[in-house]
Amino acid sequence: MMIPLNKPLTPDLQTLTKYITQVNDKGWYTNFGPLHELLTERLEKYLGVKNLLLVSNGTLAIQVACKALNIKSAITTPFSFVATTSSLLWQGIETAFSDIDARSYNLCPISLDKALTEDNRYDGVVATHVYGNPCDVQGIKKVAIKHNKKVIYDAAHAFGIKVGDKSVLDFGDASTLSFHATKVFHTVEGGAIVFKHKKDYEKAKQLINFGIKSGGELGEPGINAKLNEYQCAVGLTLLDGIEQVISHRESLFNLYRNELKNVVELPQWHPEANINGAYMPIYIEDETLQQRVIDALAEEGIQSRRYFTPSLDLAYNKQKSYGCFNSHSIAGGVICLPLHYHMNIEAVLKITSLIKSNLS
Ligand SMILES: *Cc1c(COP(=O)(O)O)cnc(C)c1O
Repeated sequence: MMIPLNKPLTPDLQTLTKYITQVNDKGWYTNFGPLHELLTERLEKYLGVKNLLLVSNGTLAIQVACKALNIKSAITTPFSFVATTSSLLWQGIETAFSDIDARSYNLCPISLDKALTEDNRYDGVVATHVYGNPCDVQGIKKVAIKHNKKVIYDAAHAFGIKVGDKSVLDFGDASTLSFHATKVFHTVEGGAIVFKHKKDYEKAKQLINFGIKSGGELGEPGINAKLNEYQCAVGLTLLDGIEQVISHRESLFNLYRNELKNVVELPQWHPEANINGAYMPIYIEDETLQQRVIDALAEEGIQSRRYFTPSLDLAYNKQKSYGCFNSHSIAGGVICLPLHYHMNIEAVLKITSLIKSNLS
């Protein structure tokens, strides 16, 4: 039996058809239609946030957030999916890298403070909650206040995550989500930005509709980044079952971690955060052992991926780096194991026992 790394959620066709029929009957296919409004409202309620703006993908979410907050230069993490950096570079944002914490794999506030003390010219900080594990949001907040920087969190992995009783999306000036098919919750392609301030939300809403103001006059030039009604229908359909999805993923994640805690190194999770089971990263420093595990899994039809590698400061080496030693070593040894809603406990146990027998 083959076990894929990931498998997208499948929307229930009966529910989906009900929504799509509403769209066809109304003839309102995009531009902030009724399903767009309903999905916005339901997501704000479910996530416990305000000022949520749906957009057409998680990459544009980062770009529009930067534009709305007037960020023209940024320090970012080298350890993330490529879009965290490429979205900035595509927009002509001057981008520099500062190292991650070796335990959490997230942007390190101490390294960030050092970089900003050396060079105070950046407008903002762009940090990722890697694998859904929240950054040290209090530490980063202190550094941002000290140096007067705006903060954007790439929360593409952090759907439904809280720190204490507060949504992780409440931290920073804006947080971005991706609703790509491979994510915990999806709209096929899609995303959202959650703004701290209403005025930034209003500005971004104008920017994603070509820069057209609510009265119809033209403002600052914008882009088209709207989420359409068919995709909102997928989102509304999948949102019905999302609690069950997250709790199943969480239980698989906890089982994996428990089985592997004495076998491989695991990233340290934020002590006050809940778990969404977005990814299952393990770390094996020794390259030979790492390859042995990947091969042994592949032989049984089990997909795994060295993810995220390379460290992004190496891929975009014309950009300034303030030293990314930890990111290089983590990117060199990290592997993601299969984790998705359509997997069961037996699959996890099969994978963990294979890993154990290959590492003992
Ligand atoms: C998926 C992802 C993105 C990009 O989102 P898209 O919706 O695919 O554009 C950005 N950042 C991170 C960390 C991601 O995992």
